[in-house]
Amino acid sequence: MEKIYGKGIYEGVVIGKPFLKYEKKIEVEPYSLKEGEIESEILRYKEGIKFAQGKLSNLINELRNKIDKKDLQILIVHFEMLNDPIILKEIEDMIKKEKINAEEAVKKVLGKYIELFSNKKNSVYQQRVSDLKDIRDRLLFALIRRKELYNNIEGKILIAKEILPSELLELVNNRVEIKGIIMEFSGTTSHVAILAKSLEIPTFMGGKNLFLEKWSDEIILDTYHSKARVINNPISEVVEEYKKLQKFIEKENDEIEKNINMPSITLDGIDINLDFNAGQNIDLGALKRVNPHGVGLLRTEFIYMERDNLPTEQEQIKIYNEISDEIGKNKPMIIRSLDIGADKILAYCPVESEENPSLGERGIRFTLRRKRILRTQLRAILQSAYGKQIKIMHPMVSCREEVLKIKQMLEEVKADLREEGLKFKEDIETGIMVEVPSIIFMAREIADEIDFFSIGTNDLTQYILATDRFSQKENELYDYYHPAVLRAINTLAEVGLEKNKKVSVCGEMAGELVGIVILLSFGIKDLSMAKTFIPRARNIVRKIEFNSLDNLKKQILRCKDSVEVRKLVKDYIKNL
Ligand code: PEP
Ligand code: MG
Repeated sequence: MEKIYGKGIYEGVVIGKPFLKYEKKIEVEPYSLKEGEIESEILRYKEGIKFAQGKLSNLINELRNKIDKKDLQILIVHFEMLNDPIILKEIEDMIKKEKINAEEAVKKVLGKYIELFSNKKNSVYQQRVSDLKDIRDRLLFALIRRKELYNNIEGKILIAKEILPSELLELVNNRVEIKGIIMEFSGTTSHVAILAKSLEIPTFMGGKNLFLEKWSDEIILDTYHSKARVINNPISEVVEEYKKLQKFIEKENDEIEKNINMPSITLDGIDINLDFNAGQNIDLGALKRVNPHGVGLLRTEFIYMERDNLPTEQEQIKIYNEISDEIGKNKPMIIRSLDIGADKILAYCPVESEENPSLGERGIRFTLRRKRILRTQLRAILQSAYGKQIKIMHPMVSCREEVLKIKQMLEEVKADLREEGLKFKEDIETGIMVEVPSIIFMAREIADEIDFFSIGTNDLTQYILATDRFSQKENELYDYYHPAVLRAINTLAEVGLEKNKKVSVCGEMAGELVGIVILLSFGIKDLSMAKTFIPRARNIVRKIEFNSLDNLKKQILRCKDSVEVRKLVKDYIKNL
């Protein structure tokens, strides 16, 4: 029996068969098709192309500001070749004519071009040979991988070096049920982590050397305990223990379901606002079920990233109106202005390459330098907020001067709208995200200029601990239960109380039981999280006596490391 420790992303206990997703290519033998199989093979081939194109285009976007333009050009050429209608049609025709599987047709057609260019001495042709080999492998990989994954993964625990958000979405789209995910990649606030949570798949990250293990037929994935673990070759007694734990969790889930329509109120009658973080996919059915108080964070990036030009004012108004209609017109919603930079890139609006993009032009720094973008967004938010409980907030603010600039722009935009005779929300509330530590130290002065603070613990943690939230190497240092992060949050909560300004939290921490208890003990009553966490959050809120948390808060603030914090709060939760 071996145990591998890492980070749990979505809590659960799974006992099941592992499925290893190898990165290396798998050879496929040629086979002939029967007449009736040709159509579905063409469809599979077309889906494979689409998949390969999508993967490459994502890669290009991810690398756009990280590598030299010259190097990026290699991938852009590959992308163009992957879209070449002549080659693609030739492969399709060969599948039909020769009645062979798509992989074999890809090999034959591209093999022909590879041979043709290989015989030429010119270095330009030699380069084409390697380009062609690359796209041949990309296509083969897309075809083989898809078939392998879909056929074999159903009902198993996926083990991978890394799984991309697009791959995960694709599996879900194809209704393939994955019981759990174990990966070497580690990024607790990465997009794949956020996605795994919203899909409610128990997920484990940061496992070392997963592919050196000899996996047993049955393994245990435990992300329920704070020290998440994978157990390979479990002895029968341990399997039995985990089966008991699964029963216990089921009972706990029943209790959560029972409380689903109850108010989010503590034992001593304090209302806690459980909001949700919204992005592109607002699943209305799921939303009604979990019944959130409102939207605590609308990440507007998706509106800009899903297209190849800037959204107009009218297009944005339409989207904000649609979202507020979906969640319910009377529900509060905080719309965050565009948060571009670092990992989020607009292909059609590039930023200059920087040594350290996380410390560079991102969030409000990006939009304050591109005033037209921010003005258009403010105009749209102000108009769609008319008669509704909509607020604005800005990401990555690091100083009071930025706050003053934002305020000035808001007033100018309002004056324009007034002059144009357009309806808009005059008294809109404006807040800032607290993601940069300087804000904590300047909180009193800044509080006088804004209506509310919303703590983005995902970024705040990376900037307080000087550890990249997306880095794999330094990931062990990234921990939002580090006492330094918690003390910073508490300081801000105290300023909020003193200045009578609302402080909410919208980072991943706000959706975890340990996080919720800590934040309540600091007096924070507004928590925004992935919608799937709301029922669990409501359940724990209803067990807590808000005004008796002071002693716990004192103990938390005395902790010397995150291990101590977790233990202390977990023990507290056990006794609720
Ligand atoms: C955060 O930084 O905590 C946050 C909520 O913003 P994002 O995850 O979108 O950077
Ligand atoms: Mg952030």
